[in-house]
Amino acid sequence: MLRTISGFDRIGEENAFAVLARATALSAQGKDIINLGIGQPDFKTPAHIVEAAIKALKDGHHGYTPANGLLATREAVARRTLTTTGVEVSPENIIIVPGGKVTMFAAIMIFGEPGAEILYPDPGFPIYRSMIEFTGAKPVPVPIREENGFAFSAEETLSLITPNTRLLILNSPANPTGGVTPKSEIEKLVKGLEDHPHVAIMSDEIYDVMTYDGEEHCSLLTFPQIRDRLIVLNGWSKTWAMTGWRMGWSIWPDQLYDKVRKLAVNCWSCVNAPSQYAGIAAIDGPQDDVEKMCKAFDNRRKIVVDGLNSLPGISCATPKGAFYAFPNVKETGWPAKKLASALLDGAGVALIGGPDFGILGEGYIRLSYANSEENIIRAIERIEKFLAK
Ligand code: PLP
Repeated sequence: MLRTISGFDRIGEENAFAVLARATALSAQGKDIINLGIGQPDFKTPAHIVEAAIKALKDGHHGYTPANGLLATREAVARRTLTTTGVEVSPENIIIVPGGKVTMFAAIMIFGEPGAEILYPDPGFPIYRSMIEFTGAKPVPVPIREENGFAFSAEETLSLITPNTRLLILNSPANPTGGVTPKSEIEKLVKGLEDHPHVAIMSDEIYDVMTYDGEEHCSLLTFPQIRDRLIVLNGWSKTWAMTGWRMGWSIWPDQLYDKVRKLAVNCWSCVNAPSQYAGIAAIDGPQDDVEKMCKAFDNRRKIVVDGLNSLPGISCATPKGAFYAFPNVKETGWPAKKLASALLDGAGVALIGGPDFGILGEGYIRLSYANSEENIIRAIERIEKFLAK
């Protein structure tokens, strides 16, 4: 028997990938599956971004780049950050990483160890908890409640901080709920955090452009009083439909930057060079495709919410951001995970059970509306038929 570290007995998974694999296998058997499971835009990466990668390859950019990313890519991220948040960030605080997930890996590895406590949203992106458990730190769920519009509550979050808290993870617009935390609540939280200078903050802002109904994303970067302990996670995956390129960026305070740069040197060396050139084109090029995609998500959001609310036993709060709906299915009488897998097998609709996102996910399912209007309508019809049986 080989002896491995105990972290691997605790590390979890992201069930969206397992559902994707099952849905793909069922499709390969000739079954007609509508996939509302995985969280990735159904759009292609805009052509000018693809062209920039091809050009970089033809121009001979085939080698390593600096571990923290090309200066030109980091400068592009700084320009984009100024445009979207109004905040000036030095390229010396930016690192280019292979996907947004790598930022959470790095942040949790830097702070997690037995005895440490890390606060994370529940329901929330499953990798937060999985990675916290991997490090041996204590995962402390911050409840994200439907009755609070799936926003986090500053008061409740602050009440969970102890002398052992090392890191607080925030996510707005949120996966899996589509919740957007209002600026007033974030202001309250930041004010409270001033009394807890030992707590670092990682703000996952990967869905920052996807807000609806006039809702505005409030970046934690806009609060200078916490900048020296703030990590901001962002990236290209969702905004420019680039999930498969594995391109993310993060902004780190001076006191942590060299730690993550060293982690990069030890672990991934650098992000592949052509993608980094494509990343510059994404930021500096026309944004029409991004706008079109967000408009399409907004339209589909209305279809999905109206459709779900017309079904017996299901009620769906209107998501204000990202591309997920998180309907309450308690009245159907089905446990959420069982319902999700029965819908895949019995109705050909792939979606994710709420418990895959945390304890408070029981009673909910997550649908990604990154799929065509036609497919969303067909999926709702199938769910309706299935529930009527
Ligand atoms: N953060 C959140 C909240 C996400 O939903 C996701 C992907 O689904 C990520 C981070 C990871 O993004 P990436 O694909 O760039 O690793």
